[in-house]
Amino acid sequence: MKKRIVSGLGGIGLLVACTPTVGPEEEQQPQELIQPAIDSSAEKEEQDSLSLLEQLDSSGLRISPKASAAERAKIMEIISKEYLMGQFNPATDQRFERIERQYLVYPERKIFIRKEAMAKFKEMQARAKEDGIALKIMSATRPFNVQKAIWERKWRGEQRVNGKFVPQDAPQKAKAEQILEWNSMPSTSRHHWGTDIDINNINPAYWLKGQGAKEYAWLVAHAAEFGFCQVYSAGRPYGYQEEKWHWSYIPLAKEFTNQYKKYIKDQDIHGFLGAEAAAEIEVVKKYVLGINPDCL
Ligand SMILES: [Zn+2]
Repeated sequence: MKKRIVSGLGGIGLLVACTPTVGPEEEQQPQELIQPAIDSSAEKEEQDSLSLLEQLDSSGLRISPKASAAERAKIMEIISKEYLMGQFNPATDQRFERIERQYLVYPERKIFIRKEAMAKFKEMQARAKEDGIALKIMSATRPFNVQKAIWERKWRGEQRVNGKFVPQDAPQKAKAEQILEWNSMPSTSRHHWGTDIDINNINPAYWLKGQGAKEYAWLVAHAAEFGFCQVYSAGRPYGYQEEKWHWSYIPLAKEFTNQYKKYIKDQDIHGFLGAEAAAEIEVVKKYVLGINPDCL
């Protein structure tokens, strides 16, 4: 009977979090997490729980009407945590699509985005074109493993942060804060969600004059009409420095921000070098939630 539950939960992984490449060790995690929601020795009850979970559909947000409030909360928490922390594969997730070449700064890159955000970006790009403004996407969804690779190269001093290598003998907090000027900690990036895009150029100087300044002025005037907001605006008390290129599709991202605030704690962040610094830095409060209040 236990085996059947495991296979049912594997189905959740596939349908909800879309992680078909999950290995034997990872399979244990959802089982443990969801166990309290389906804990029952009676076979019939167990069967009911199984069908309840099997009714989760590919949108990942619909749960069987038979679910009790407690079961619903538990399932939502598991789905949200996996999703919000980038622990899924956007390439096999039906909620995502691959961005077509003509919308990319680097057309050969394989970049995924939430379908709703892409539809609105296309509208925004067409409208901008009428005003002589060209908008293209540099980066969109970055899963946990991608962010981990970026972070750890900098943590180990293999790649420079703003021209300098992170000193290997510095305290963990100082090392993490130096990388955080330019990169998110794995598990904490809005790029995990598929709602956030980097537009045209990620060099701050690009946006200060010429074409970049014109593009920024256009985005400030019009992006909100299409649901996009500059989350890393100037003048916030803490968090990332200003990013004029990073725009978030708020109709989806607002809900993910709220869920993150509710479910993810600094202590949930682990699985990469320097993760221990998360709590000391208060990374959830200061970096994930330290965004432009107009985007909430
Ligand atoms: Zn970005």
